[in-house]
Amino acid sequence: MGERMKVIPIDKLQPVLVTGATGYVAGWIVKRLLDAGVTVHAAVREPRREDKVAHLKALAADAPGKLHLFAADLLQDGSYAAAMAGCGIVFHTASPFTSQFADPQKDLVDPAVQGTRNVLDEAKRSDSVRRVVLTSSCAAIYCDAIDCARAPGGRLDETVWNTTASLDYQPYSYSKTAAERSAWDIARAQSRWQLVVLNPSLVVGPALQARPTSESFRIVQSMGDGTLRMGAPRVGFGAVDVRDLADAHLAAAFLPHASGRNIVSAHETDLLAMARTLLPRFGKAYPIPRRAMPKWKTWLFGPLLDRTITRRFVTRNVDVPWRADNSKAIRELGLAYRPLEQSMQDMFEQMIGSGMLPQRRPLQDPRRVT
Ligand code: NAP
Repeated sequence: MGERMKVIPIDKLQPVLVTGATGYVAGWIVKRLLDAGVTVHAAVREPRREDKVAHLKALAADAPGKLHLFAADLLQDGSYAAAMAGCGIVFHTASPFTSQFADPQKDLVDPAVQGTRNVLDEAKRSDSVRRVVLTSSCAAIYCDAIDCARAPGGRLDETVWNTTASLDYQPYSYSKTAAERSAWDIARAQSRWQLVVLNPSLVVGPALQARPTSESFRIVQSMGDGTLRMGAPRVGFGAVDVRDLADAHLAAAFLPHASGRNIVSAHETDLLAMARTLLPRFGKAYPIPRRAMPKWKTWLFGPLLDRTITRRFVTRNVDVPWRADNSKAIRELGLAYRPLEQSMQDMFEQMIGSGMLPQRRPLQDPRRVT
């Protein structure tokens, strides 16, 4: 836990609820809470699936806090009642983050939006909850990197909303935007608990579980498995370490003055720049992209290789810088961000250790991978 966490007045008397506790981001939130001595009610879809919850149990075994697992599904009304009973804080992280979906409405939007309503309606019924921390996303703020230039001062800030994502274009971003809007509607209709929203950019850094499902891993895997050996398009986006994001959740939960939306993003980067942070440690052994895939080539061939790389996406994101004003969360939540190199290298190392990337000795001829 970072030094700054010592100044956060963590309440250990009341349990807290973490929805989607099996997730990549949630794992680190649960760890921070257990290490601080908090009792965590972990809501998961399948509490009997050891492959999903073993790492959480192992965290609890080594920490002063206590872990209680509860079965809950975003799409079942009332499903979070038992898990929320007696909790002072609700961390609502559960929401699908994947590009591997069949039906965007059913697989992304319904769990995000109905799930948020389900969890927040339960908070409305509870008499113990005093704050809900929602893990939203920068995806609820912008749709394409080109939106940054149109934002106030040329940078996204907390006043900006994604207005162009739809079921047909960037449906994950659409799901996060609709879910966050719904959360604010529910929060404003009552006054017993306060909503604090975190809007992280792309989350990177090591997972606590061996087989994370988060889209973050598919993206970093493509940097090491040869998918991008011919070059990476310079798709502009922001990035933040999962451990720093977990600290942000604790600050958002326990700092009395935390409020509103908060952009949690450490670095303004792009796909190639991010991949290049891996070169010093892994460049000799892995086909990490070293040069940019030209925009015209990505426009021409991208849609043939990956259905999420549409021509509209390429036009609006490749070679377009991503800019966001991250000062509110630094100032109000007391965040300090670690370097991108550290996040990326720790993540890559963990992915090799857990078998998501193969163990490799240095390549014979590094020119072959440029
Ligand atoms: P993740 O590891 O895939 O976690 C998603 C969680 O949602 C899993 O625990 C999953 O449970 C749960 N979930 C999905 N559908 C559910 C349902 N119907 N009922 C109950 N639980 C359900 O992804 P993540 O990256 O940690 O994402 C966590 C949160 O951070 C999400 O809200 C995401 O939008 C947000 N976020 C992520 C990033 C990023 O770059 N990773 C950036 C910004 C915001 P199962 O394990 O049972 O599938």
